[in-house]
Amino acid sequence: MITPTYARLTQKSDLTSVCLTVMHVRKLVWIVVEDSDTRTYLVAKLLARCKVSSVHLNVVTPDYYKHDKWKPRGVLQRNAGLSWIRDHHSIDNCSGVVYFGDDDNSYDLRVFEEMKETKGVSVWPVAFSGGVKIEGPLCKDGVIDKWHSGWGSERPFPIDMAGFAIHLCLLMRNPKVLIGRDRQNRLSKPGYLESNLLEQLVDKDLLECRGPPDEAIVWHVKTAEPDIPREHNDPSDPLDIEV
Ligand code: UDP
Repeated sequence: MITPTYARLTQKSDLTSVCLTVMHVRKLVWIVVEDSDTRTYLVAKLLARCKVSSVHLNVVTPDYYKHDKWKPRGVLQRNAGLSWIRDHHSIDNCSGVVYFGDDDNSYDLRVFEEMKETKGVSVWPVAFSGGVKIEGPLCKDGVIDKWHSGWGSERPFPIDMAGFAIHLCLLMRNPKVLIGRDRQNRLSKPGYLESNLLEQLVDKDLLECRGPPDEAIVWHVKTAEPDIPREHNDPSDPLDIEV
């Protein structure tokens, strides 16, 4: 599981929640990629405490990495995670499934069970994504019945980043495919990260529906910015405590 992360007041709280989830998943390797110039002490300590096998990487998103006033979030970090995985596997040693799990989502443990069966690309809908109650494929009898989204239904794959998992062999057979570029190697348009990735890997008809048909098992939530207006910024304040 590749998790991009960046420094903010709620970073440690969010990563702690994800840690407590992935600790229950057998054989999971948690690749945490910081959007920063360095690997921070805060994240290193958290990973050392978290009882899961982990890899700690970093790559900073430069300010110029913007177009149409849109700054893609977590793109270089997910690609760093993909490169690490590809560097540590081969086409003959590619059993496994890759999942992009943001640090601010909530995950039912069943999503990790479901993705283990992935042959190519597994999909499920994600709650609270894209301005609707649940976005992505709605399945019936194990096949996609219809897609539900609040915008951009013309996207080849109207799905959230947390709504799919990819078999590692498929990624190894397509070594150049990265996030943030389309088939013609142009920068992805806003909202097209998932579509541009998946259209280079799989035919829509071959997507594997997973998860219960009538329940969400991943939630695209966002931790509220803490409301701490009474905190003062006095450098002489002895309140030097990590949150
Ligand atoms: N992220 C990042 N750098 C940023 C903003 C976000 O690495 O400048 C990470 C963030 O921690 C999360 C992922 O990228 O794991 C997606 O970010 P966010 O949830 O803010 O984006 P959304 O999913 O709402 O588009």
